[in-house]
Amino acid sequence: MANAMCPKCGEIKDLDVIVNETEEVNSEGNIVKIKTNNFYCSFCHTFVRSEDIKLKNKIFIFIYNEMADFEITPIAHILGTDLGKEIITIAYDNDIIKSMSGLEYKPKMLVKDVVEETTDGLIIPGGWNSELRPELVQLIENVNSQGKLLGAICGGPYFLAKSNMLQNRKYTTSMVEWTEMYKQQYGEIDPFPRETFVNERVVVDKNLITSQGIAFIDFACEICDWFKLFKNEDERKQFLKAVKG
Ligand SMILES: [Zn+2]
Repeated sequence: MANAMCPKCGEIKDLDVIVNETEEVNSEGNIVKIKTNNFYCSFCHTFVRSEDIKLKNKIFIFIYNEMADFEITPIAHILGTDLGKEIITIAYDNDIIKSMSGLEYKPKMLVKDVVEETTDGLIIPGGWNSELRPELVQLIENVNSQGKLLGAICGGPYFLAKSNMLQNRKYTTSMVEWTEMYKQQYGEIDPFPRETFVNERVVVDKNLITSQGIAFIDFACEICDWFKLFKNEDERKQFLKAVKG
C-alpha cells in the first residue's frame, strides 16, 4: 500500500486510492482514456495527491495459422507507434501461431476473452484457414455494432462474409470469384454476397475497410485515414508517395 505525509495528520499515513476513469478528445480528434488515481489519508480521509495515467486504446488483430502476416504488420506498426494504440494479438487458443512466411506469433489474449471488451477496432489478415468459431462471430458483431473499425484484407473478408457483415455493404477481397479450388479447400459454396463486391484494391464503406492482399499499403493508408492520422489530402498523398516511391 502507498503511504505519504498527510497534510492534516502531519505524519506519514497509509493512503486509500479511489480510481476514476474519464475520456477526453486529443488534438488529433481521437478519444483518449485517462485513469486518475486519487489518494486519501486512510486515517482522516484528507485528499493527499492524484496521478493521471493515459490508457492506450486497444486494437485487436486476429491471428491464425497460415495467415499472410505481411498484410497486417505495416498497419500494426503505424497503429502501435504513430497512432499510439495498444496492439492486442488475439487467437482462438493459447498456442504459437505460424504464419505463411514462417514467422511465428504469440497471441496476447484469447478471442473468447475479449468479446465484451471495448476496442478501437478489429483487423483480420488473409490466409489459408477458414476455421470460424462462434466467439469470433460475436466479436465481429460487437465491434461493428459499436461502429468501430472492421478491417479485413485478402481472404480476411471471408470471416466477415460468414458473419453476415457484408450484406448490403461495399467490400472487396482477393477472392474475386469463388473458384473450384476454393470450393475444394473450404468445402462450401461461395459465402460472399457478390451484389456488393467491388473489384478494387481497397474499399471503404463507413467503418468497414476491406482490401485485396497485394494492396496492403493502401489498406494501411485507409485505416490511417479512419483514425485521422492525416490532416489533409496532401498529407495522405505524401504518405503514399513516401511508402510506394
Ligand atoms: Zn490524515
